[in-house]
Amino acid sequence: MTTDLFPTLEFPLLELRGVSKTYRSGSLQVQALRGACIAIREGEFVAITGPSGSGKSTLMHVLGCLDSPTSGTYRLAGQDVSTMSEEELADVRNRRIGFVFQQFNLLASLTAGRNVELPLCYAGVRRAERTARATEALARVGLAHRVEHRPGELSGGQQQRVAIARALVTDPALILADEPTGNLDSASTTDVLDLLAELHVAGRTIVLITHEADVAAAAARTVHILDGAIQNDSGVHQEATHRG
Ligand code: ADP
Repeated sequence: MTTDLFPTLEFPLLELRGVSKTYRSGSLQVQALRGACIAIREGEFVAITGPSGSGKSTLMHVLGCLDSPTSGTYRLAGQDVSTMSEEELADVRNRRIGFVFQQFNLLASLTAGRNVELPLCYAGVRRAERTARATEALARVGLAHRVEHRPGELSGGQQQRVAIARALVTDPALILADEPTGNLDSASTTDVLDLLAELHVAGRTIVLITHEADVAAAAARTVHILDGAIQNDSGVHQEATHRG
């Protein structure tokens, strides 16, 4: 694992201060986030939980630099995200954050290996290096023997592991997983949660968004959100590690 990203952080990797988000459509206004404050340090494994409609997806969009707050500040590795240019934001989304979604979002026509290579294509990495890194990432998630398989030839759990390999391949500072087990049976759910726990032990920073308490239990820290506000935060766990 390389350590070129934010190697000696003296501040949280992610810091939300008083973040609010209001959606407006016509005369209607929905306040999806209300003054959310969270600080997440490098190496933490944090679950963000809450019932449907509580603001989890909105929070994930802010954390993933996919949407901006209406008010408040979001600092990523100390830098105020609102000051970043479009180019910097695109770079953060492509290389600094590894996204894992409920629907896997794999391209059906591409092999597992080519799917995992995609973020490296966007980053302009050459073919030979892409193939080597994708193969390594698939081995990391236990799928070295499935490099040439297409998503339709893999189980749901295996597809999600391919998606996790794709999230890992750029060596991101943060893995952001949105309901990653929402489409999986219980055996595959355990499999994917065990993999996330292993990545955490290896020093990865992981934010897992879920409405299921038993899925959240996989994380070292739980932040509960209700009606757009942080209702409870179990706090930083002692085991938060640093990458290296
Ligand atoms: P969760 O992910 O916890 O289900 P969301 O963040 O999706 O919650 O939604 C929080 C609130 O914001 C809900 O009331 C939802 O209806 C509303 N909301 C979410 N996205 C939009 C949008 N694009 N436009 C208007 N309202 C939205």
